[in-house]
Amino acid sequence: MNKTRAKISTESAAAKKKRALEILSILETEYPNARCHLNYTSALELLIGCILSAQCTDKRVNEVTPGLFKKYPTAADFARADRDELEEEIHSCGFFRAKAKSIVNCSKALVDEHGGKVPATMEELTKLAGVGRKTANVVLGNFYKIPGIIVDTHIMRLSKRLKLTSNTDPEKIEFDLRALIPEAKWTFFSNSLGDHGRTVCFARKPRCGECVISHLCPSAGKV
Ligand code: SF4
Repeated sequence: MNKTRAKISTESAAAKKKRALEILSILETEYPNARCHLNYTSALELLIGCILSAQCTDKRVNEVTPGLFKKYPTAADFARADRDELEEEIHSCGFFRAKAKSIVNCSKALVDEHGGKVPATMEELTKLAGVGRKTANVVLGNFYKIPGIIVDTHIMRLSKRLKLTSNTDPEKIEFDLRALIPEAKWTFFSNSLGDHGRTVCFARKPRCGECVISHLCPSAGKV
Protein backbone atom coordinates (compact mmCIF):
# COMPACT_ATOMS: atom_id res chain seq x y z
CA MET A 1 0.00 0.00 0.00
CA ASN A 2 1.45 3.37 -0.88
CA LYS A 3 1.77 6.20 1.62
CA THR A 4 -1.16 8.29 0.33
CA ARG A 5 -3.57 5.38 0.45
CA ALA A 6 -2.40 4.43 3.90
CA LYS A 7 -2.91 8.00 5.06
CA ILE A 8 -6.40 8.28 3.60
CA SER A 9 -7.55 4.92 4.87
CA THR A 10 -6.72 6.06 8.40
CA GLU A 11 -7.68 9.69 7.90
CA SER A 12 -9.50 11.13 10.91
CA ALA A 13 -12.69 13.14 10.52
CA ALA A 14 -10.76 16.27 11.52
CA ALA A 15 -8.02 15.62 8.96
CA LYS A 16 -10.60 15.03 6.24
CA LYS A 17 -12.34 18.29 7.11
CA LYS A 18 -9.01 20.13 7.02
CA ARG A 19 -8.25 18.62 3.62
CA ALA A 20 -11.74 19.59 2.35
CA LEU A 21 -11.17 23.19 3.49
CA GLU A 22 -7.81 23.28 1.70
CA ILE A 23 -9.51 22.02 -1.46
CA LEU A 24 -12.19 24.71 -1.06
CA SER A 25 -9.56 27.40 -0.62
CA ILE A 26 -7.78 26.41 -3.82
CA LEU A 27 -11.07 26.22 -5.73
CA GLU A 28 -11.82 29.77 -4.57
CA THR A 29 -8.61 30.96 -6.14
CA GLU A 30 -8.92 28.85 -9.26
CA TYR A 31 -12.64 29.39 -10.00
CA PRO A 32 -13.56 32.72 -8.33
CA ASN A 33 -16.54 33.23 -10.64
CA ALA A 34 -17.93 29.71 -10.49
CA ARG A 35 -21.65 29.76 -11.20
CA CYS A 36 -24.49 27.71 -12.56
CA HIS A 37 -24.05 27.30 -16.32
CA LEU A 38 -27.73 27.40 -17.19
CA ASN A 39 -28.94 30.76 -18.50
CA TYR A 40 -31.92 32.19 -16.61
CA THR A 41 -33.50 35.46 -15.55
CA SER A 42 -36.01 34.09 -13.02
CA ALA A 43 -36.52 31.20 -10.61
CA LEU A 44 -39.03 29.70 -13.04
CA GLU A 45 -36.52 29.77 -15.91
CA LEU A 46 -33.87 28.15 -13.71
CA LEU A 47 -36.31 25.48 -12.55
CA ILE A 48 -37.42 24.63 -16.09
CA GLY A 49 -33.78 24.67 -17.26
CA CYS A 50 -32.87 22.19 -14.52
CA ILE A 51 -35.68 19.82 -15.49
CA LEU A 52 -34.46 19.96 -19.10
CA SER A 53 -30.81 19.43 -18.11
CA ALA A 54 -31.28 15.85 -16.83
CA GLN A 55 -29.07 13.62 -19.02
CA CYS A 56 -28.35 16.65 -21.23
CA THR A 57 -25.66 19.32 -21.40
CA ASP A 58 -26.26 22.85 -20.10
CA LYS A 59 -25.08 24.09 -23.51
CA ARG A 60 -27.87 22.25 -25.30
CA VAL A 61 -30.44 23.43 -22.76
CA ASN A 62 -29.25 27.01 -23.26
CA GLU A 63 -29.85 26.65 -26.99
CA VAL A 64 -33.44 25.57 -26.43
CA THR A 65 -34.58 27.83 -23.58
CA PRO A 66 -34.53 31.32 -25.18
CA GLY A 67 -37.32 30.38 -27.61
CA LEU A 68 -39.10 28.36 -24.95
CA PHE A 69 -39.15 31.14 -22.35
CA LYS A 70 -40.33 33.62 -24.97
CA LYS A 71 -43.26 31.40 -25.87
CA TYR A 72 -44.07 30.40 -22.26
CA PRO A 73 -43.13 33.38 -20.07
CA THR A 74 -45.08 32.27 -16.98
CA ALA A 75 -45.89 29.08 -15.08
CA ALA A 76 -49.49 29.46 -16.26
CA ASP A 77 -48.29 29.41 -19.88
CA PHE A 78 -46.35 26.18 -19.29
CA ALA A 79 -49.30 24.71 -17.35
CA ARG A 80 -51.63 25.05 -20.33
CA ALA A 81 -49.03 24.14 -22.98
CA ASP A 82 -50.03 21.69 -25.68
CA ARG A 83 -48.05 18.58 -24.74
CA ASP A 84 -47.21 17.61 -28.35
CA GLU A 85 -45.95 21.11 -29.14
CA LEU A 86 -43.87 21.26 -25.99
CA GLU A 87 -42.37 17.83 -26.70
CA GLU A 88 -41.37 19.04 -30.14
CA GLU A 89 -39.81 22.20 -28.73
CA ILE A 90 -37.67 20.37 -26.17
CA HIS A 91 -37.00 17.30 -28.32
CA SER A 92 -33.26 17.96 -28.64
CA CYS A 93 -32.79 17.83 -24.84
CA GLY A 94 -33.65 14.11 -24.78
CA PHE A 95 -36.26 12.29 -22.67
CA PHE A 96 -38.65 14.85 -24.12
CA ARG A 97 -41.89 13.05 -23.21
CA ALA A 98 -41.01 12.66 -19.54
CA LYS A 99 -39.59 16.18 -19.37
CA ALA A 100 -42.65 17.75 -21.05
CA LYS A 101 -44.90 15.89 -18.62
CA SER A 102 -42.84 17.08 -15.64
CA ILE A 103 -42.79 20.68 -16.88
CA VAL A 104 -46.57 20.79 -17.37
CA ASN A 105 -47.38 19.05 -14.07
CA CYS A 106 -44.82 21.08 -12.15
CA SER A 107 -46.20 24.31 -13.63
CA LYS A 108 -49.79 23.30 -12.78
CA ALA A 109 -48.72 22.85 -9.15
CA LEU A 110 -46.95 26.21 -9.19
CA VAL A 111 -50.15 27.85 -10.40
CA ASP A 112 -52.54 25.90 -8.16
CA GLU A 113 -50.51 25.90 -4.96
CA HIS A 114 -47.96 28.72 -5.14
CA GLY A 115 -49.66 31.53 -7.02
CA GLY A 116 -47.50 30.88 -10.08
CA LYS A 117 -44.28 31.48 -8.13
CA VAL A 118 -41.41 29.07 -7.48
CA PRO A 119 -41.27 28.27 -3.76
CA ALA A 120 -38.04 28.81 -1.83
CA THR A 121 -37.96 25.77 0.45
CA MET A 122 -36.57 22.28 -0.09
CA GLU A 123 -39.79 20.73 1.18
CA GLU A 124 -42.03 22.60 -1.27
CA LEU A 125 -39.67 22.30 -4.23
CA THR A 126 -39.23 18.54 -3.93
CA LYS A 127 -42.99 18.04 -4.01
CA LEU A 128 -43.06 19.42 -7.56
CA ALA A 129 -43.07 17.01 -10.52
CA GLY A 130 -39.59 16.36 -11.89
CA VAL A 131 -37.86 18.12 -8.99
CA GLY A 132 -35.44 16.23 -6.73
CA ARG A 133 -32.96 17.50 -4.18
CA LYS A 134 -30.36 18.32 -6.85
CA THR A 135 -32.69 20.62 -8.79
CA ALA A 136 -34.04 22.09 -5.57
CA ASN A 137 -30.51 22.89 -4.41
CA VAL A 138 -29.67 24.47 -7.78
CA VAL A 139 -32.66 26.80 -7.47
CA LEU A 140 -32.21 27.48 -3.75
CA GLY A 141 -28.47 28.05 -4.02
CA ASN A 142 -28.18 29.98 -7.26
CA PHE A 143 -31.42 31.97 -7.35
CA TYR A 144 -32.56 32.32 -3.75
CA LYS A 145 -29.01 32.33 -2.33
CA ILE A 146 -29.94 29.69 0.24
CA PRO A 147 -26.81 27.50 0.37
CA GLY A 148 -27.07 23.99 -0.98
CA ILE A 149 -24.76 21.15 -2.03
CA ILE A 150 -25.72 20.27 -5.60
CA VAL A 151 -24.97 16.61 -6.22
CA ASP A 152 -24.76 16.32 -9.98
CA THR A 153 -22.65 13.93 -12.03
CA HIS A 154 -19.49 16.04 -11.55
CA ILE A 155 -19.86 16.35 -7.78
CA MET A 156 -20.51 12.63 -7.49
CA ARG A 157 -17.39 11.75 -9.49
CA LEU A 158 -15.06 14.27 -7.88
CA SER A 159 -16.15 13.80 -4.27
CA LYS A 160 -15.57 10.09 -4.73
CA ARG A 161 -12.14 10.57 -6.31
CA LEU A 162 -11.19 13.04 -3.62
CA LYS A 163 -12.40 10.53 -1.02
CA LEU A 164 -14.63 13.13 0.60
CA THR A 165 -17.35 10.51 0.66
CA SER A 166 -17.54 6.75 0.44
CA ASN A 167 -21.24 6.83 -0.44
CA THR A 168 -22.82 6.45 -3.86
CA ASP A 169 -26.32 7.61 -2.93
CA PRO A 170 -26.66 11.31 -3.91
CA GLU A 171 -28.47 12.29 -0.73
CA LYS A 172 -25.82 10.65 1.45
CA ILE A 173 -23.09 12.37 -0.58
CA GLU A 174 -24.90 15.68 -0.08
CA PHE A 175 -24.91 15.24 3.69
CA ASP A 176 -21.29 14.01 3.78
CA LEU A 177 -20.20 17.19 1.97
CA ARG A 178 -22.42 19.39 4.12
CA ALA A 179 -20.50 18.13 7.13
CA LEU A 180 -17.14 19.04 5.59
CA ILE A 181 -17.79 22.43 3.97
CA PRO A 182 -18.99 25.61 5.73
CA GLU A 183 -22.66 26.23 4.97
CA ALA A 184 -22.08 29.62 3.36
CA LYS A 185 -19.84 27.92 0.77
CA TRP A 186 -22.07 24.98 -0.15
CA THR A 187 -23.30 26.46 -3.44
CA PHE A 188 -19.90 27.83 -4.42
CA PHE A 189 -18.20 24.52 -3.60
CA SER A 190 -20.71 22.70 -5.82
CA ASN A 191 -20.33 25.10 -8.73
CA SER A 192 -16.53 25.28 -8.53
CA LEU A 193 -16.08 21.52 -8.16
CA GLY A 194 -18.37 21.23 -11.19
CA ASP A 195 -16.09 23.60 -13.11
CA HIS A 196 -13.08 21.51 -12.09
CA GLY A 197 -14.86 18.41 -13.37
CA ARG A 198 -15.67 20.09 -16.68
CA THR A 199 -12.16 21.42 -17.29
CA VAL A 200 -9.65 19.09 -15.57
CA CYS A 201 -11.07 16.09 -13.73
CA PHE A 202 -12.85 14.54 -16.70
CA ALA A 203 -14.79 11.32 -16.29
CA ARG A 204 -12.31 9.68 -18.64
CA LYS A 205 -8.64 10.59 -18.55
CA PRO A 206 -8.59 13.27 -15.86
CA ARG A 207 -5.64 15.65 -16.21
CA CYS A 208 -4.04 14.88 -12.85
CA GLY A 209 -0.73 16.36 -14.03
CA GLU A 210 -2.39 19.79 -14.42
CA CYS A 211 -4.64 19.54 -11.38
CA VAL A 212 -4.27 22.24 -8.71
CA ILE A 213 -5.62 19.97 -5.99
CA SER A 214 -3.67 16.83 -6.94
CA HIS A 215 -1.61 17.01 -3.72
CA LEU A 216 -4.89 16.70 -1.79
CA CYS A 217 -6.34 13.95 -3.97
CA PRO A 218 -5.85 10.27 -3.05
CA SER A 219 -6.77 9.30 -6.63
CA ALA A 220 -4.11 11.44 -8.34
CA GLY A 221 -2.55 9.45 -11.16
CA LYS A 222 -4.60 6.38 -10.33
CA VAL A 223 -7.79 6.91 -12.36
S1 SF4 B 1 -5.75 14.69 -9.06
FE1 SF4 B 1 -6.77 13.77 -10.85
S2 SF4 B 1 -8.45 12.55 -10.00
FE2 SF4 B 1 -7.78 13.96 -8.38
S3 SF4 B 1 -9.12 15.76 -8.59
FE3 SF4 B 1 -7.28 16.18 -9.78
S4 SF4 B 1 -7.75 15.51 -11.86
FE4 SF4 B 1 -9.27 14.58 -10.50
